Amino acid sequence: MNPTDLMQDCKPTPLWWDHVPRPVLPDARLPATVDVLVIGAGYTGLHAALQTARGGRSTLVIDAEDAGWGCSTRNGGQVSTSIKPTYDDLARRHGAQRAFDILREGQQSLAWIADFIAKEGIDCDFGQVGRFHAAHNAAQYEALAAKVAHQPKGLEVRAHMVARSEQRSELGSDAYWGGVVYEQHCSMHPARYHQGLLERVLAAGAQVTPRCPASAIDKQGQQFQVRTARGTLLARNVVVATNGYTGKLTPWLQRRVIPIGSYMIATEPLPDGMMDRLIPKNRIVSDTRKVVYYYRSSPDRQRILFGGRVSHRETDPRVSGPKLHADMVKLFPELASVRISHSWCGLVAYTFDELMHLGQHDGLHYAMGYCGAGVGTASYFGMRIGQQVLGLQEGCTALDGLAFQTRPLYTGNPWFLAPSVAYYRWRDNRPV
Ligand SMILES: Cc1cc2nc3c(=O)[nH]c(=O)nc-3n(C[C@H](O)[C@H](O)[C@H](O)COP(=O)(O)OP(=O)(O)OC[C@H]3O[C@@H](n4cnc5c(N)ncnc54)[C@H](O)[C@@H]3O)c2cc1C
Repeated sequence: MNPTDLMQDCKPTPLWWDHVPRPVLPDARLPATVDVLVIGAGYTGLHAALQTARGGRSTLVIDAEDAGWGCSTRNGGQVSTSIKPTYDDLARRHGAQRAFDILREGQQSLAWIADFIAKEGIDCDFGQVGRFHAAHNAAQYEALAAKVAHQPKGLEVRAHMVARSEQRSELGSDAYWGGVVYEQHCSMHPARYHQGLLERVLAAGAQVTPRCPASAIDKQGQQFQVRTARGTLLARNVVVATNGYTGKLTPWLQRRVIPIGSYMIATEPLPDGMMDRLIPKNRIVSDTRKVVYYYRSSPDRQRILFGGRVSHRETDPRVSGPKLHADMVKLFPELASVRISHSWCGLVAYTFDELMHLGQHDGLHYAMGYCGAGVGTASYFGMRIGQQVLGLQEGCTALDGLAFQTRPLYTGNPWFLAPSVAYYRWRDNRPV
């Protein structure tokens, strides 16, 4: 099918926004002073705000766009433990105990979000469906098998290998070399989750003001004076929760996160019976490529949601849509004649050590850098940074105090991304 036919009637917005339109919030004036100002109304910001509002602090959340406009309503809704470096990497860098604690905290974030959604009664199609993590070559299959067989003591997760000969029980594709099922990984509807969270933040008494970009922060004695598009206010504490959209408002943070575009498409509804062949167990799926593909079925099992990084440079979702479709068809040839109904993208934040970071700099609190994941960890570390604002002991995490690295001459424009992606793509495709 040619790109024009493929993209006929395609919306350049997330499928999720069809089900949960961007929230309309009261057009209230900003208060002159507030205990806590949170900048960014995604998962990080709202979870921080939920803690401070329930902790009795007057709390204002502002967003440059609509609440949840960033990644928090654009993502694939795949929930995992989301710590990228391995135990050996972390132990080399930070010692065995710190490595253990960091990985443990990632595992806790997954258990915690499941618990949070259940306790709060948020209706967001949350389920422990398990992840099929597919090996893109034989060497990767062996590496996955070794990883599952030799899990660090005390950090074991429920996982089982699926050989290539059995792969069709997990996935309607022969493009992989088998894989591993991580049984505890979950899926959800990201915008329904965001909406439920937003409602709880409002119910806790916080004000959430959209279309209100912050443009300057100045220290004034014990407080911060923050200039926004809707006026200036004083805040005792400020939480910066801007992740991939971190900009010149906070240059120190901007130098430490690497914004990277992540792209997704949704297909039109599939013919009857096709989903049961393609993703029979309703798992979330990813693969071992460095330039990873991630996909799943929509909660109603009508459509495939397929994500990845398809261009070296940032591009328009109308351009990325056909490229993602072509990649998807390499894995699932029977999707060749299925059109794309939605194509969208968002900016995630990588860091130089592939870990998220939270803490304080010059008195400003922050949590960010979830390295392409973050449904679970942005929620969890947003909650923890809110507790840190309240001065609570339970807000302490294994990541506290880790150096938040930058690189000489890096100011927030990742010029090195295009050659890096090209290199990783070559490495992913090279025969082994
Ligand atoms: C296409 C895509 C697929 C993804 N899939 C997954 C997945 O399946 N699983 C997973 O775990 N993670 C996934 N992610 C990543 C995950 O969604 C993010 O890590 C997470 O949502 C980050 O939440 P956040 O609240 O920190 O940031 P965001 O939700 O991005 O929110 C940051 C907000 O800050 C606001 N902001 C920025 N500057 C200012 C300013 N000066 N003033 C006011 N507001 C400002 C922005 O408008 C934005 O709304 C995906 C991301 C994308 C883009």
